[in-house]
Amino acid sequence: MADYIVRASAANHQIRAYAATTKELVEYARSIHGTSPVATAALGRLLTAGSMMGSMMKGDNDILTLQINCSGPIEGITVTADSHANVKGYVNKPEVMLPASEKGKLDVGKAVGSGVLSVIKDMGLKEPYVGQINLVSGEIAEDLTYYYATSEQVPTSIALGVLMNKNNTVRQAGGFIIQMMPFADEEVVNKLESKINEINSITSLLDADMTPEMILEYVLGEFGLEIMDQIPTKFYCNCSKERVEKAVISIGKKDIAEMIEDQEPIEVNCHFCSKHYCFSVEELKKILEMSR
Ligand code: ZN
Repeated sequence: MADYIVRASAANHQIRAYAATTKELVEYARSIHGTSPVATAALGRLLTAGSMMGSMMKGDNDILTLQINCSGPIEGITVTADSHANVKGYVNKPEVMLPASEKGKLDVGKAVGSGVLSVIKDMGLKEPYVGQINLVSGEIAEDLTYYYATSEQVPTSIALGVLMNKNNTVRQAGGFIIQMMPFADEEVVNKLESKINEINSITSLLDADMTPEMILEYVLGEFGLEIMDQIPTKFYCNCSKERVEKAVISIGKKDIAEMIEDQEPIEVNCHFCSKHYCFSVEELKKILEMSR
């Protein structure tokens, strides 16, 4: 089944909700980056959040970046999404291995540790919007919940989950983002809070093969859930040789000249999708020529 996001509202638009299944895109990310199980879970959670948060943006060309810089062994995670739910991402240390947490789960919190989460929204204005928080737990869903509460002042409940197979491929991935609108009744807010507290974990819902629609029905069924639409989401990288060329130029004329002198063609990898781009000595000469 292809990945998708469901957009919905409930309680006469006092609640807005998103739920996603992202198994395919997280498995794709795992396969191209060769991530360990705990790195797959960390990246998968942030990719899942990115796909939903990207699709919340209004402008056709709006770009969202979620960046975690952290002291844990994974060192950092970067995810970029557009408003059409195309998402891409990578972790700094894909090979990080850790023992399971006390609950027997992949210990994403420990892999991430403490640090900073930045939410960068490029909406075509002069300056992008940047919201930053200190990580609360490194579990990602909790950190994003805190981000919404403090930076955007929107009471939000976020759940993100990645389940692995025994052979370390992705069995399930998905999550939800549920937000209270500012005009919501206190009664609705309280009722929703206690409903969300009832949920053991998103992974148990995913493990029961619940679709995004079923998950939203489970959480918001008693609030008069209205499903609005379904948006396909996928891992997509828009890199190209021209874009990578700019990165080559940025290493500096002196270094490029040295590579030409050594008759060394170079290979540059895209961080996001691991695609290789080769630049021959001839091409390096042209780049050097252009950057004069
Ligand atoms: Zn790429």
